Amino acid sequence: MSESLFTPADERAMRLALDQALNAALIGEVPVGAVILRDGQLIATGYNRPITTHDPSAHAEMVALRHAAELLENYRLPDCELFVTLEPCAMCAMALMHARLKRVVFGAWDPKTGSAGSVIDLFAQPQLNHHTAVQGGLLAEPCGDLLREFFARRRAEQKAQRQREREALAGLQVPAAELPAIPAGEALELDAAQLVDLNDLTSFSDLGFKP
Ligand SMILES: [Zn+2]
Repeated sequence: MSESLFTPADERAMRLALDQALNAALIGEVPVGAVILRDGQLIATGYNRPITTHDPSAHAEMVALRHAAELLENYRLPDCELFVTLEPCAMCAMALMHARLKRVVFGAWDPKTGSAGSVIDLFAQPQLNHHTAVQGGLLAEPCGDLLREFFARRRAEQKAQRQREREALAGLQVPAAELPAIPAGEALELDAAQLVDLNDLTSFSDLGFKP
């Protein structure tokens, strides 16, 4: 969808969602942020935090949705609009439709799990819902850049960590010439005359053992 469909107020809302996404990045979570507006008023915010809260459902949209529903004391939010920096996944798309949101606006498209057109378009299923309008691509570039930079940084960190591990391992491998000689112990030469032929023995006492 073209960006001309969006108003300056939409853009302001998406910039607030971007601020939320930065909060996620600060705590090491994938940077996705969301805000919910009601009659143009900001009523809830959320950012992605499934790792830190041990909650696989703690996507930005879900966090914002819970806050808004609690605030309005209503599980349905028909007067609300949600702005999120990344195309919602199937879980979030369904939750937003269950809440009967008026409108959902997202930033970057998500070719891997996007459920508003990229992988599947749940919002377009006539059997599911007629209440929630969806529009994508608002400030798609800064929203996507934030994610790309995050993953690039994480890949660089992982590479640096592997390099550190390799160096630590190499540090343990001292060249053979620098290693101290392994003590071989003292070898005793046996005098053949002192050896006793076991066949000649008749009892342990012959070996010096007392029975
Ligand atoms: Zn989601």
